[in-house]
Amino acid sequence: MKRLFAILLILLPLALVGAQDEPLHVITTSNILADVARNVGGDRVMVDSLIPPGADGHAWQPTPSDVLKVARADLVLAVGVGYETFLGQLVENAADVPQVIVSSGIPILPFAGHDEAETAESTPEAGHDDAEYIGVYGEAGVCEDDHTQAATAEADHANEEAPGQCDPHVWTDPTNVMIWVDNIADALAQTDPANAEVYRANATAYQEQLAALDAEVAAMLAEVPEARRVLVTNHEFLGYFAHRYGFKVVGGILGATTLEEPDPQRLAALATEVKALGVPAIFAEVSANSPFAQVIAQEAGIRVVSNLYSESLSDINGPAATYLDYLRYNAQTIADALKPV
Ligand SMILES: [Zn+2]
Repeated sequence: MKRLFAILLILLPLALVGAQDEPLHVITTSNILADVARNVGGDRVMVDSLIPPGADGHAWQPTPSDVLKVARADLVLAVGVGYETFLGQLVENAADVPQVIVSSGIPILPFAGHDEAETAESTPEAGHDDAEYIGVYGEAGVCEDDHTQAATAEADHANEEAPGQCDPHVWTDPTNVMIWVDNIADALAQTDPANAEVYRANATAYQEQLAALDAEVAAMLAEVPEARRVLVTNHEFLGYFAHRYGFKVVGGILGATTLEEPDPQRLAALATEVKALGVPAIFAEVSANSPFAQVIAQEAGIRVVSNLYSESLSDINGPAATYLDYLRYNAQTIADALKPV
């Protein structure tokens, strides 16, 4: 009996701790970000993404149940850089839930289709609260500014009027995702200081996997000779990938986001450039294909490779069920399409 009592004395505090020590409820916008957050949070977090697998993040709209999801979360993680045009209305109703922009600290690139003057001209605008800003340093001296702010109703409205000149698709470079990982570990540690060391250790382990992936992708792409390192995509989402691995982004059929209407003059110019450069293939995406890609490809006598993943992971049985698989799969698909036969 004495022994049983002793065991109970040992177990009771553990049971109490267990009961209070619920995992954090983390809401992310994209499901790519959710996968990264799960790797950092481990079993200390329950992560749910707003944008479901296979959906196009640029076109996605929240439902009333998403408003509840966000309001009940312990933490909201967003890409930033103007990516989440829908987030304003959601976070308005959840002012006490901390929101963290995970791209803070990443050098933000302009879209290839926009020149510097154009970007500078459209750079907003006084009157924001400094607290909303996340400092990000643009390499070319552009895009260093407001585009990383947390989504607000104001930003939401601004985005309707003029789509961002800065490219939000930072995750196509795994070294940027390593910065996400640091920011996520910090955010989780701040929300749940008791497990800060766990988050830090998970972050380091996952960053090692990302570094290995980066080397693996570089080796895959080494098969593509310099002259064939040209990317034409359906919408322009591979800017950071191109920057990391030495490719040239010729342009996007649709432009910066999947919501843009292609301009006939720009399409004609793109078709001419595709022929002149001898671009071997045009890449489209699972979540957003376009008949214009086919038209340009036909005219140039090349093919459309239509199975890249851009905004979203595949479902669990698909080839891009995790971020590591997503990047590996996209890189292999690009290498296969562009390397000489
Ligand atoms: Zn996109």
